[in-house]
Amino acid sequence: MKRFFIVLAIPFILLIIVGCEQEQSKNGKLYIVTTTGMIQDALKNIAQEKAEVIGLMGPGVDPHLYKPTPGDLSELRKADVVFYNGLHLEGKMGEVFEQLSRQKPVFAIADEIDKNSLQAPQDASQAYDPHIWFDVELWKQTVDYAGKSLAEADTTNAQYFMSNTKAYTNALDTLHRWVKQQIAQIPKKQRVLITAHDAFGYFGTAYQIEVKGLQGISTLSEFGLRDVSELVNFIVENNIKAVFVETSVSSKSLETVVSGCKEKGHDVKIGGTLYSDAMGEAGTAEGTYIGMVKSNVNTIVSSLK
Ligand SMILES: [Zn+2]
Repeated sequence: MKRFFIVLAIPFILLIIVGCEQEQSKNGKLYIVTTTGMIQDALKNIAQEKAEVIGLMGPGVDPHLYKPTPGDLSELRKADVVFYNGLHLEGKMGEVFEQLSRQKPVFAIADEIDKNSLQAPQDASQAYDPHIWFDVELWKQTVDYAGKSLAEADTTNAQYFMSNTKAYTNALDTLHRWVKQQIAQIPKKQRVLITAHDAFGYFGTAYQIEVKGLQGISTLSEFGLRDVSELVNFIVENNIKAVFVETSVSSKSLETVVSGCKEKGHDVKIGGTLYSDAMGEAGTAEGTYIGMVKSNVNTIVSSLK
């Protein structure tokens, strides 16, 4: 019965998108619709007062499991330009983007990244790791691509978008250097980042910290008792001081790990909450990409140092 409903529901969603005319934004500004907060923030920095930039996935939202609501579909219909991450991060929205791209400019910001810079899957059935925003240098490349794409979509403001892109990517260069310096302060032996799911692979490679997640790169994958006991053994053997929960993933799984360590006589603490796949509340420092990265790094360094 459930499957029958899904079969019916997909064409229905597509019908909603295809069937309606694109609306013009009322104030004459470009109407840009994005998925994650990180992409929304990048586009806000690029477009500034020339556009209204909407983000469909707010604080605490898990993009891997996210299904578009009727309200989202209406925003996407209204959009002049759409930006999403790609690499199957928005795993349940692929069909929607494919349909939309026949009617308006739709960009997957990960598209232009050299495949050699991507973290390859462990086996052929899996996709590339989509969490590209945690290598600031790599994220800079996507911001650059987003700036160029927007300049092509709205040629009258092209120069304005390009100069904003340059200013923002300069700020990202500074951030990248800062993260490197901070992580280097953690003694090498203690440089292990353990989180609920594998969101920090790029972070680990870029800033030389070993990373381990209880769940795989998508929160769709289940973890089992074997995964928990393997992680518990690793933490005890390596005398790890702290593990980290994430705002967009349930903390239950890591709490099981913490109590498993206690049973073995090792006291590991929850080192704090990291912003992995979603940013903090709008209007706070963590509600921006730069603020989110800084908050994560400060949390990691103060717990592991
Ligand atoms: Zn994730």
